[in-house]
Amino acid sequence: MDAAGIYDILVIGGGINGCGIARDAAGRGYSVFLAEMNDLASGTSSWSTKLIHGGLRYLEHYEFRLVREALMEREVLWSNAPHIIWPMRFVLPHHEGLRPAWLLRLGLFLYDHIGGRKLLPATKTLDMRRDPAGEPLKPLYSRAFEYSDCWVNDARLVVLNARDAADHGAVIRTRSRVASAQRTGEHWQAVVENRRTGTKETVRARLIVNAAGPWVDDVLASTLGRNDVHNVRLVQGSHIVVAKKFDDPRAYFFQNRDGRIIFAIPYEEEYTLIGTTDRDYDGEPGDVAISEAEIDYLCEAASEYFAEPVRREDIVWTYSGVRPLFDDGASKAQEATRDYVLRSEGGEGKAPLLNIFGGKITTYRRLAEAMLEKIEGFLGRKGKPWTMSAPLPGGDFPVIGFEEQVSRFRGEHPFLGAAHARRLVRLYGTKAARVVGLAKSTAELGRHFGADLYEAEVRYLMANEWAVTADDVLWRRTKRGLRVGGEEAAALEEFMRGAASREEAAAAE
Ligand SMILES: Cc1cc2nc3c(=O)[nH]c(=O)nc-3n(C[C@H](O)[C@H](O)[C@H](O)COP(=O)(O)OP(=O)(O)OC[C@H]3O[C@@H](n4cnc5c(N)ncnc54)[C@H](O)[C@@H]3O)c2cc1C
Repeated sequence: MDAAGIYDILVIGGGINGCGIARDAAGRGYSVFLAEMNDLASGTSSWSTKLIHGGLRYLEHYEFRLVREALMEREVLWSNAPHIIWPMRFVLPHHEGLRPAWLLRLGLFLYDHIGGRKLLPATKTLDMRRDPAGEPLKPLYSRAFEYSDCWVNDARLVVLNARDAADHGAVIRTRSRVASAQRTGEHWQAVVENRRTGTKETVRARLIVNAAGPWVDDVLASTLGRNDVHNVRLVQGSHIVVAKKFDDPRAYFFQNRDGRIIFAIPYEEEYTLIGTTDRDYDGEPGDVAISEAEIDYLCEAASEYFAEPVRREDIVWTYSGVRPLFDDGASKAQEATRDYVLRSEGGEGKAPLLNIFGGKITTYRRLAEAMLEKIEGFLGRKGKPWTMSAPLPGGDFPVIGFEEQVSRFRGEHPFLGAAHARRLVRLYGTKAARVVGLAKSTAELGRHFGADLYEAEVRYLMANEWAVTADDVLWRRTKRGLRVGGEEAAALEEFMRGAASREEAAAAE
């Protein structure tokens, strides 16, 4: 903020795009204020399939620019965050009567060669009668292709970008809705409402980035007072989580008879994640929930392949999100472009507004760089692009050094169980030691909330990662929610409320 109390940039939205832009901009020396109306990653960014991928299917829609950029990002992001991103092999069975084998091979040849692959292994053909990947499937599938992409803990990717933005000086405000924003000549004057306390503050900025994801048109209409806005097409996608269907570390890529595809992915050690769907959505994005028809669709599509069918009663959790796709007029939801579009207006005396339509988690860093180019055009250049080789918090260890990191951490904290230690390194990387602090025994980690979740971790998340409610901890910072029961969650909520008010009281003294 400058001496007159004006920020360079006000970012609306704490999803992957807002946090990625805030990080890049703060690191270049711009002053940044980011407002998120709920929790970080509470929008689309924690409801994805969690793949850092080129998007094999997008080749069919000739989205070569997007696929190439996304493929190139896989190894960049993996090396910047090897704790929360890791390589995964995908098994794509050939299905008689669907895409021919030559087409799959051609697509995978392009996939292997257009995206600067260095560490990720290339595609190979599998004989499913011999390969263990064939075991959980029906014997109909004798041939498959195995290719590489990466897996990401999506919600943590968002939070780590926010953390790094804050470490570079950005102000990150959660539970803070930008209720209105008006131009006062060369500046914006925004009213930011704290949704927990009801208090309002005025934030002044030279430029606004509207990174509100599925709410991007709402922000244009209700916050900025525009009429007749229709830039994004909201497309719902849902997932189901079932008890582990297979032991293999590889994921499956299944083709469906309707031309769509679904994934079945090893998830949180004991589960399989199956998704996704694609259907137009016209409700409030925050209210989206899986429909009965989507549950049936996913169970049927997966049961076409697995020898042991996927039944409704196997489902332990479901989640749904809304893709904010740029409306390119495609007739089917699955055909709408997955590429991003950045539109700017203002300048020459009129405070600039930059909007984001569409985008993937995979391409968030490149999107931020493209956005920074536009920002520089309005505010003048500060620093150079820097995020390509800058580790995210906790990711400062060698890209293939995860196991070594776990061994070292275990050696330093022998009282932690193997699974617990591994989980902490997966979530926090080199910062896992800070989560544990000076504790020398499990008892010293403080109160236990179930499933390896102790007070020390909760306090770390409250102090460093903007966690305020039990849901923030259980479903976004960790996925302990899959294992923690209702009573434990209620106890955690109460504990966090008490801890927050004790801290407020101490700060007021
Ligand atoms: C089912 C599904 C599967 C997907 N799978 C993948 C995948 O495997 N790989 C991949 O790369 N991508 C995937 N995506 C796409 C990816 O998840 C999204 O493109 C991305 O998360 C969008 O991020 P965002 O920051 O634009 O939006 P969001 O994450 O929705 O963030 C926008 C934020 O703005 C906030 N906000 C809105 N209005 C205001 C306001 N007035 N004031 C303050 N805050 C406000 C919201 O609360 C929200 O948190 C998937 C998407 C879906 C739905």
